[in-house]
Amino acid sequence: MQCISIVLPCYRTAKYLRELYRRLVAACEGCDSEFEIIMVDDGSPDECWEIILELAAGDSRVKGIHLSRNFGQHPAICAGLDVASGDVIVLMDADLQDRPEDIPKLISALNDAVDVVYTVKESNREAFLTRITSQIYHRVFSQLTNTQVPQHIGTLRVFTRRFLRSMYLYTERNILVGPLMFHMGFEHAIVQVARDDRQGGSSSYSFRKRLALAIDSLLSYTDLPHRFLILFGGIVLFVTIAYSIGLVVQRIFVTTLPSGLTLLAILLTMSLGATMIGLGVIGIYVFRVYQQVLHRPRYLISRQINLDAKIDRPFLGSLGA
Ligand code: UDP
Ligand code: MG
Repeated sequence: MQCISIVLPCYRTAKYLRELYRRLVAACEGCDSEFEIIMVDDGSPDECWEIILELAAGDSRVKGIHLSRNFGQHPAICAGLDVASGDVIVLMDADLQDRPEDIPKLISALNDAVDVVYTVKESNREAFLTRITSQIYHRVFSQLTNTQVPQHIGTLRVFTRRFLRSMYLYTERNILVGPLMFHMGFEHAIVQVARDDRQGGSSSYSFRKRLALAIDSLLSYTDLPHRFLILFGGIVLFVTIAYSIGLVVQRIFVTTLPSGLTLLAILLTMSLGATMIGLGVIGIYVFRVYQQVLHRPRYLISRQINLDAKIDRPFLGSLGA
């Protein structure tokens, strides 16, 4: 019989966890499979961990991990994936926006040829700014990485153990699970699902945070900044050369040259600006290389429940093979 692992990063989601557990159990029992529910408390300031302990005490299929501080959604997902033992892995948000009732439908879309099933949201009730950032991001990302990322793609997704094993091979520190999965390829299927509204509370992603995330994934998976710099440098060079030719022509045909100090100052500051941007971009990459060389763990676990105490890989917090 196959086993399903459901991985849930939890941050400020205490009030949803009991209902989420109840609906997950109902949905998975309908699948006629064994299952485990892995709840990762990402240093949540509310009483997530107490509720995870309570649920885990009543049901050994609930496994809990408590991270030593708030590491962010993606490292929290990695923590859950590192301990997932199922043949099929379900990744979803813990705030009831993804509906547990959709899981059987997604699992049945997996087959010998399809290793990953993504979901797109049927109705798009997100705020205007959120919609805009995600649309720009998807368009640019799809074009630059030559991967067709569908619009309105949701966090809820299902994949095989084979897919997860390949994911373990990606050891970058600064991990973004969403773009990474598309980067990996594999045959995929897309299923339309409804996404419920957030029931109280607010998203942990502000517009600024979303924008930073979009920029982060562009830096990680595309060479857009370099291309932009080359283009910009090219324009500056072209203007400078044209100006120089103009000066020579003027010198030949017009005896008195007008003072070109202003234009010279403009060109000088322009090229200085371009150089500074270039240095900044290189700086970003140097910092990323530095982070990677440090090889810091992606997350640290401070407590765990219903998990084999001898599992030592999670304590390293790395997705090593
Ligand atoms: N999350 C997390 N750590 C964080 C922020 C968010 O584990 O620092 C989790 C959160 O519990 C939820 C998921 O990531 O399960 C998505 O977060 P949220 O609902 O705030 O984002 P949105 O649905 O608005 O994209
Ligand atoms: Mg949410």
